Amino acid sequence: MKIKIHRGAREVGGSCVEISGKLSTILVDLGLPLDFNREETTESYLPDSVRSLFHHSGKSITGVLLSHPHLDHYGLAGELPPDTPVYCGRASWDLMKATVQFSLNNYSLPEVRHFNDREKFKLGEFTITPYLMDHSAFDSYSFLISGRAVNVFYSGDFRGHGRKSRLLAKLPDLLPEIDALLMEGTLVGNRNEEIQSSESDLEDEFVKVIDQTQGITLVTTASQNIDRLVTIFRAAKRCNRLFVIDFYTAEILDILKQYGKLPNAEWPRIRVCYPRFLARQFEKNGNENILNRHRKNGIRWTRINEKKQKIVMLVRPGFIADIKRFLDLDNAVWIYSMWLGYFERSSSLRKLKSFFLEQGVNYKYLHTSGHARITDLKEFVRKVSPKKIIPIHSFHPEQYHEFFDNVQMVENGEEIEISS
Ligand SMILES: [Zn+2]
Repeated sequence: MKIKIHRGAREVGGSCVEISGKLSTILVDLGLPLDFNREETTESYLPDSVRSLFHHSGKSITGVLLSHPHLDHYGLAGELPPDTPVYCGRASWDLMKATVQFSLNNYSLPEVRHFNDREKFKLGEFTITPYLMDHSAFDSYSFLISGRAVNVFYSGDFRGHGRKSRLLAKLPDLLPEIDALLMEGTLVGNRNEEIQSSESDLEDEFVKVIDQTQGITLVTTASQNIDRLVTIFRAAKRCNRLFVIDFYTAEILDILKQYGKLPNAEWPRIRVCYPRFLARQFEKNGNENILNRHRKNGIRWTRINEKKQKIVMLVRPGFIADIKRFLDLDNAVWIYSMWLGYFERSSSLRKLKSFFLEQGVNYKYLHTSGHARITDLKEFVRKVSPKKIIPIHSFHPEQYHEFFDNVQMVENGEEIEISS
């Protein structure tokens, strides 16, 4: 079995790995780099080696596995040659479709087939076993890829401190002897200093801040970070406050309703708000039906202001005009609950922060990473005991040596042979 990392050997984001045997070639993930520019075409972000694999190699791709619904893992799937079989989880697929449908960008998606947690399936000469993982994206998978007595394990993005941490704890017992472990290391290196408390500890932190706040509690987080929405909902409930979400978040939770007991807009402690900027964007995209669908659970801005001491509300940069017009921000708090690095990348987030600071709103940062802590990576490696570890999805692959034995660094485009 041969492994070639097309992208991801020395960076977080844009991962793509080729695994090939005598008869079959598969790709695992095909993502956009994190720093992609929305003005550019997605095609321009294909690694050259992938472009030539598609168009000049004469190889046909037996199948593509998409690990989870973060754009840095699937954002280039629309560039695959037509009729390439693509596989992902069911809820993953629903979230990918929602992102493409509701965004103003020109992403596209191929047709896909679905796999189920821990159900083996064949892809050419390979047998694939997906394992559901704990990550900040809902429905994230790792993959065991087996062929001719060789076992390769691709970790995907994962962590051990979220609301599904038991998945990581029991995974090593389910695996055979692993010849090569392609393991993410987002937190290897300079991001090791990030706050890495568990989601349930984070919930307690939210409760403390909300309890000390006399005015409205405003929170900025990603609408598809479902673990975090659960954390905020639970904290709001413990503080006897309503959780106000925008209609886009309501739609995401509605889509996922069939996959588990998650908060949704029909619940009595949740209300849906209608920021004008977001509503206009949805109308422009022809998605008015989404606005209408959640009206029955709606709350007016004037009502939010009247009940501000009893509300925890999600806000995003596009909401500033409505906040200015309708909300009294006296004694309010704004909790930022995402990676701090987004401030460097997003001028609209910086604008939101300056706006709140100018208004004298109390600023708090409450977040925990979607990626595995070094201690969890070490524990996972100790239990799995792979013959070799290949760094991926890390800005500091050279630092893996400090934590693990048997590390083999592979450069982008370099092909290595794995044997049993
Ligand atoms: Zn991810």
